[in-house]
Order: sequence, then C-alpha cells, then structure tokens
Amino acid sequence: MKGLQITEWKKPYKFSTDIPVPKIETPTEILIKIAVAGYCHTEMMVQNGEFASRMKANNGLPLIPSHEATGVVVEIGSGVTRVNVGDRVASLPIKNTCGECNDCKKGLVKYCENADHNGVFANGAACEYMVADEAWTIPLPSSITFEAAAPLMCAGATIYSGLKVANLKSGQSVAIIGVGALGHLGAQFAKCMGLKVVCVDARQAPLDLVKSLKYAPDYTIDAMKGVEWALQEIGGEGVDATLMATDAIPAYSYGLQLTKKHGTFVVMGQPFDPIPIPFNQLIFRNLTVKGSLISDLESATEMVKIVAEKGKYHINIVKAAYSFFLGIEVRTKTYPLEDIKRLMQDYHKEDHAGKLVLRVSDNV
Ligand SMILES: [Zn+2]
Ligand SMILES: [Zn+2]
Repeated sequence: MKGLQITEWKKPYKFSTDIPVPKIETPTEILIKIAVAGYCHTEMMVQNGEFASRMKANNGLPLIPSHEATGVVVEIGSGVTRVNVGDRVASLPIKNTCGECNDCKKGLVKYCENADHNGVFANGAACEYMVADEAWTIPLPSSITFEAAAPLMCAGATIYSGLKVANLKSGQSVAIIGVGALGHLGAQFAKCMGLKVVCVDARQAPLDLVKSLKYAPDYTIDAMKGVEWALQEIGGEGVDATLMATDAIPAYSYGLQLTKKHGTFVVMGQPFDPIPIPFNQLIFRNLTVKGSLISDLESATEMVKIVAEKGKYHINIVKAAYSFFLGIEVRTKTYPLEDIKRLMQDYHKEDHAGKLVLRVSDNV
C-alpha cells in the first residue's frame, strides 16, 4: 500500500508505495481503508522522536504518522460487535488498552500506559490501510464527511473533553487561547453549550475564521494587545475557565491572568518547555489547574452526535439552488497524501487557519 513513514527521527517523511498492508492481530481489531487522515500539531513531536520511549520494542521505526483516522471498515476481528464491514467510521488513536492496570480497572482507560496510540507510537492513518480498535471507533452519520470527521478524532475530541473538564454551566464564560484546529471547534462546541465564549490568538487569520462561523465566539481578542486590554473588552474579572490550546509559553501567563479568581485553567497544549504557574495564581487567586488528555469514547461519540445534529446544511426553499451552512463547521483544507510537503509548508504560514487533512484514498 502507499503511505508516509518516519524512517529516521527528525527527518522528512518517506513516501512509499510498497508498505505491507497490516493484519488484524486481536479479536477486537478492525482494518480500515483510510479515506482522510488529519495532520495535527503532535505530528511534529512524533517526527522528532518525542514519544519514542513509548514504542514497543517490536513496533519501532518505520512508523506511519497521523492519529486522526477516517475510512471504511474492510475487515473485522472475531470479537467485533459494534461495527461491520462497509461501515463509514472514524477512529480515536487509542488501541489495545490492557484491561488490567489500575486506570483500566477504574474505567479511566484513556490513561492506560500499556495501550498503543495509532500515529504516535503505533502505525497511524497516513496510509491506505490501518488497524484500529473497535472500542475506540465511532460509526459516522452520513451527514459527516470524512474531511470533517478526521479533525474531530484528535482536535475536536481533545477540546470537547477539555470543555467537559472545565465543568461549566450554561451562561458561564470560557476563553479559548489558541484558535487553531482545536480552538475553532472548541468555540463552536462552547457556543452550543450555551457558554459565553472568548477566543484569543496572536494571528488575525484564525480570528477572522471564527468570526465567520455561525456559532461565532462572543469576543475575538488579539493577544498582542495585552491581557489588560482583553479584560476591559470582555468586561469584569475575567472568564470562569480558560482552555489552553496552544504551546506558546507567553500565552500561559496571559491565560492565567484572564481567568477569574477561583476559576479553572485547562491545559491541552504540549509545550516543550515547562509551563510557568506563579504560586499566587494557585494560592491567592485559587485557580484550579487541570490537564486534559484527548477523550474517552463516550465524550467523543457525544461530540460526533452534536456535530451531526448541529452541522446541517440549510436549504433555502425560496432560492432552492442556494444553500448555506447553518451549523457547526469543521474548516479543513485537503491535500493528496503525496502532497504532504506542501501541507507542512502551508501549516507554518502566518495566514493558515482551520485544519489541514490528507486525502488518502479517493474510492471510499
Ligand atoms: Zn490498562
Ligand atoms: Zn492530535
């Protein structure tokens, strides 16, 4: 099969056409013919070998990247009950949790340290066929395209889960710092939850993107104008919770200051350097700092349902030929698998906004 591979850390991907098609090895695994695979920020960390220590000895390089998989099921293991051959699916990266560790026993399976993560330390979706775990796979409603579904499997799942970690009630306020793939989805999910939403970024292109959405944030804030200005703009003492969807270190100090006293600060970015959190934010301002790791199947399934329900095209019956989008949008730009270099160049451009995805197979 064709696919991308990391053959050496910190080196460009190798495009190959002779990668062996993987085989199902456990009863709960399924083989997916990949339609669209997402390109996530974590891809660069994987390429640099930052997760190499989690690789199982028999599963080292070469490694196929991408942990946002969508496609059609072409084969199922003997114990699979939730999906069938021919189903359109999307798959979270987690696979083969052990069922025996403390986290698995407590139901905190996404934290299982014996699990594989497709595209991170097991083979991922930037190829024609990928083995996934049915326990982490979600059948897709027909209204959700593969292009829209791929970003939901990490970016969407992570920010949706982060919003749940923030544990806010309708009417409360949330700031999303970093309006990339996670941020533009998070803003829409938060609006659908009835929250007051503040989106912050230092770049204009992503702020323009979120402003154009149906579920647009209440405030779009240019981070370059400073936190005092932001507090004045949004009025009052800050937001009830802040979701950090960036790894820019100065943004963390900004986000802490933007959070109301007794508020919640949720970390989803993965900066290489330690995150500075001054003691006064914890002691005198009583902020709660939490992390959020991707998502469990339940929350991700709930998110997919919300996108299916809210993400509908509205057909204008007066001008039947004209339709416009009425719901949640997953803004993507699609590249053929072979064009990964162009995708990566565009990813680093100042005016880049939304999510970049790879079209792997056309005939699914
Ligand atoms: Zn486990
Ligand atoms: Zn990711």
